[in-house]
Amino acid sequence: MSIGTLERSGGCACGALRFVAHGKALRVGLCHCLVCRKAHGAPYLAFAVFPRTAVSLSGTYAQWESSPDYRRLYCQVCGSRFANLTGAEVELPVASFEDASGLVPQYESWTIRRLPWIAALAVPQFSRDRES
Ligand SMILES: [Zn+2]
Ligand SMILES: [Zn+2]
Repeated sequence: MSIGTLERSGGCACGALRFVAHGKALRVGLCHCLVCRKAHGAPYLAFAVFPRTAVSLSGTYAQWESSPDYRRLYCQVCGSRFANLTGAEVELPVASFEDASGLVPQYESWTIRRLPWIAALAVPQFSRDRES
C-alpha cells in the first residue's frame, strides 16, 4: 500500500462479488436494528461508510429495498450480504474486508435493539438512528 492511495478490497464469501474502497471511510458504526440483524444473520452489523464515488462494485448482485432509498445488495450465488446503498453513500460490512484494520466503530445505532449479552463500546450511543 503506497502512501496517499489507501485502497481496501473485499467481497462476498464465494468471490462472485468484489468491492474496492478508495480512501478513508467517512465513518464506521454498528447497527443493532432488527432489519440489519435479520438481513445479515448476525447479532449486529458493523459497517464502514464511503462516498459512492469512492467505491467500485463488481459482479452481478441481487438487491432488496428495505426502506425508501435504502438498497441492500447481496450475492445470488452464496447469499452473502455485499453492500448497502443509500443516497450518495455506500455502507460496506466491516466483516467483508480482507483487511479491516483501521475500520473501528465510532458510534452505535439502534441500541434499543441490542441483544442483552452484548456490551456497549465506549463510543456515542444512539437509541435509534444516528443523530449527526
Ligand atoms: Zn457470493
Ligand atoms: Zn440497521
